[in-house]
Amino acid sequence: MEIKDFVKKRKEELKEEISKINKTISFLIIQVNDDEASNAYVKGKIKDASEVGINAILKRYPTSITEEELLKEIDKTNNDQNIYGIIVQMPLPKHIDEKKVSLAISIKKDIDGFHPMSLFTPCTPKGIISYLDEENFNYDSKNALVIGRSHIVGRPIAELLLNRNCNVTITHSHTKSDDLRRYVKNADLIVVAIGKTYFLDKTYEYKNDAYIIDVGINRTGDGLKGDCKPSLPVKLQTPVPKGVGLLTRLSLIENILEAYKYGI
Ligand code: NAD
Repeated sequence: MEIKDFVKKRKEELKEEISKINKTISFLIIQVNDDEASNAYVKGKIKDASEVGINAILKRYPTSITEEELLKEIDKTNNDQNIYGIIVQMPLPKHIDEKKVSLAISIKKDIDGFHPMSLFTPCTPKGIISYLDEENFNYDSKNALVIGRSHIVGRPIAELLLNRNCNVTITHSHTKSDDLRRYVKNADLIVVAIGKTYFLDKTYEYKNDAYIIDVGINRTGDGLKGDCKPSLPVKLQTPVPKGVGLLTRLSLIENILEAYKYGI
């Protein structure tokens, strides 16, 4: 099933489930920038929430807000009985420590899953797994290659795949080119999350039954492009746009509902 159809189906199921809950499920988005990409992400999150019956509250602060003031706002929301989840839209102004802010969010409300003790799975890896499940990907003893080692995608997806009994290899900016080619050739599943337009192309050899999950979002003069050139000779390759981005957005809604179920 195409990702957009899968996401549509799941959103209808979530809407149905939420309609039966006799309480408004609210979450807070904190934005301290006027970044074009952030505005688009925030708009998307609000739209997704309203489509399934969740109440998104957006609070925008001037970039002059101090770290202390922002931490106070988060603390206040951590204790607010009517708010089930908190998202801080990155990036933050330079004078505010992003890590400190992420760590200030209650682990019961950290629906992005960025806190090391968070009760939630980070949205992009969670979305990838739900799509692979939908596609009946058989994880056991498969060779999974994760290209990129970020804390929000590469590392957590590697762990989720390992938990499902894949043989996981993580490569990164210091991996030698010949080694990467060898890993790619041997991979049953490749997850690419590095932010380099068309990094994987037809110069690499692939298994013809391989699955490629393209996480990359690269803004080019010619629109959004992935980390993989389209139409690689494999069994399944996720598109960009309308690919992993939609799965990430879906997982956020699922995490908000989960937060409601945990209770405050
Ligand atoms: P990042 O941008 O924080 O870091 C880049 C990672 O790529 C690092 O781990 C680095 O080691 C690795 N890398 C860089 N050059 C490499 C190379 N030549 N070979 C192998 N690895 C290399 O990572 P991120 O936050 O995971 O973002 C990666 C990409 O995924 C970006 O394009 C980002 O916009 C996109 N992204 C998309 C979604 C989505 O929902 N679709 C979500 C998160 C990130």
